[in-house]
Amino acid sequence: MILLDPYAARSCPVKTFNAFDPTTAPALPMDESLREAFGGGSDHRDRVLDLLADVEGAVDLRRARSVEATRAAVASGATVIVGPSLPDDVPGHRRGNTDGLIRDPGAPEPRYWPVRSKPYRVVEKQMGGAELRFSSLAAPARLAVLTDRRYRLFREGSLLELAHSWRMLQAAGWAADEERAGIVGDNQDGSTPSITWVQLTTKFIRTYSKTAGYKLRSPLERYDHEHGFRVHVAEVASVRTGVDDPEPVVRPIRVKECEWCAWWSICRTRMDDDDLSLRIAKAPLDVRELQTLLSLGIMTVAQLAEADIDAILPQYLPLTGHRDRAEARLRQAARRARMLAHGVELERISVDPIGVERAEVDVDFDIETADNGSTYLWGALVSGPGRDPEYVPFVRFTHLTGADEVEVAADFCSWLLELVERHPGLRVYHYSDYEIVHLRRIADRSEDPAIAAALALVPEHFVDLYRYTRDNFVGVDGLGLKVVATRGAGFAWRDEDPGGLQSQEWFNTAVDGADEPTREAARRRVLEYNEDDVRATLAVREWLTRQDAGATAG
Ligand code: SF4
Repeated sequence: MILLDPYAARSCPVKTFNAFDPTTAPALPMDESLREAFGGGSDHRDRVLDLLADVEGAVDLRRARSVEATRAAVASGATVIVGPSLPDDVPGHRRGNTDGLIRDPGAPEPRYWPVRSKPYRVVEKQMGGAELRFSSLAAPARLAVLTDRRYRLFREGSLLELAHSWRMLQAAGWAADEERAGIVGDNQDGSTPSITWVQLTTKFIRTYSKTAGYKLRSPLERYDHEHGFRVHVAEVASVRTGVDDPEPVVRPIRVKECEWCAWWSICRTRMDDDDLSLRIAKAPLDVRELQTLLSLGIMTVAQLAEADIDAILPQYLPLTGHRDRAEARLRQAARRARMLAHGVELERISVDPIGVERAEVDVDFDIETADNGSTYLWGALVSGPGRDPEYVPFVRFTHLTGADEVEVAADFCSWLLELVERHPGLRVYHYSDYEIVHLRRIADRSEDPAIAAALALVPEHFVDLYRYTRDNFVGVDGLGLKVVATRGAGFAWRDEDPGGLQSQEWFNTAVDGADEPTREAARRRVLEYNEDDVRATLAVREWLTRQDAGATAG
């Protein structure tokens, strides 16, 4: 019997295929609800359901879950049913539950809307928005217009889960007249959660198909389509015998979901080592683009590297209209494929001189932030013709308060202002806009004159080196500082495991390590890492300058 749970329609269809294919060894697929629970969803759900259970006339079935108990609660006309068990919808191929049911107060017979709790924000600002409704958990059936908000489409998956529950309620004869479903998101700001109500028949989800082009569809339409496809996938999979089976209707493609999927060890064996989704990690093509290439006989890096892009575009583009710049994305992927096929890691894409500006005195600059986002280290490398580069750090190894963060930023800025006064042509190099974003953030919330004055130097004195690499190179693994410095400029970090996330752990140890030697070692490690970051920036600058010198000499 094919029964799909509420997560199937929103999940990778290969999971459904594997689960119903008798020739595939069963895995223990991690229930998506468990994953949410590990991600902090349990506490939020418990809090929400406790509040719903306090509503007058509510029936709480969390400790006695059964279809019969749910049936009895419905028959009794409960205002809220917490922890219901819905009867399997065998003809509709559905099973599974929802967190709660809220009775429609306008219906003479007990009829319900499904509710789920989710550990994330589900709405965002939209001026003039009036499609959504909301209600408090204390009076869940008293709906009011939620103004200036819209549903976050990024969270479409939750709507598909609710649409699944809605269809099950319909099959049981318990659904309200109006197709609504409620989500209790977590704003993660300590505020009391409320129910956001979504009309399941309102068309607000933008979809693309070759035949219809762009079209707005409702959550129920989206769900019915995805669920129907997975039922088909399960039916085809369930008759496989291992002998002369037709080609599977879906094939594994490496996507984000694979990272936590219990089927990965099985799916991986079914993928070519040279599979595009495995090998092109930076700016990868999406599932639909990859499926389109597959339909054109291109599955591997070697095949894409050899492909005549101009020749396949007339077939490719009509199927990938869901993407802006689909042609540019394909050409970029093909370029990366050729680089991979030929073992090239960085490739020059420009012919004009790169022209990195230089001054008498230069500063390479890099910040480090703690895991709460506060900036605790401003590192600078002062260099110039005829002078040895000198590393100058401004740092606080402490639990940083807002005032501490401003203080260390002000120290750096005062030092920089003084240097600019002595060397008016000075340039400050950084890689990407991360440093400027933090400088601006701290300037915005402090009234420190040195920070404001340093920020005013940005247009004339600061140079984002990433722009030069982005405009002149393509990297198989992107163009991050680590990639460009090591593979282009030949720079090596002293630390065997350099990285921003690791440095946050070292910072924590530097502040809270068990003893002074441990803390001191961590402090040294952070400073050496930051020093190497700014030395890497210098190495990249010198490498870029050599590119121009080489071209001139050539
Ligand atoms: S490992 Fe990836 S491709 Fe395979 S079933 Fe899971 S999500 Fe789908």
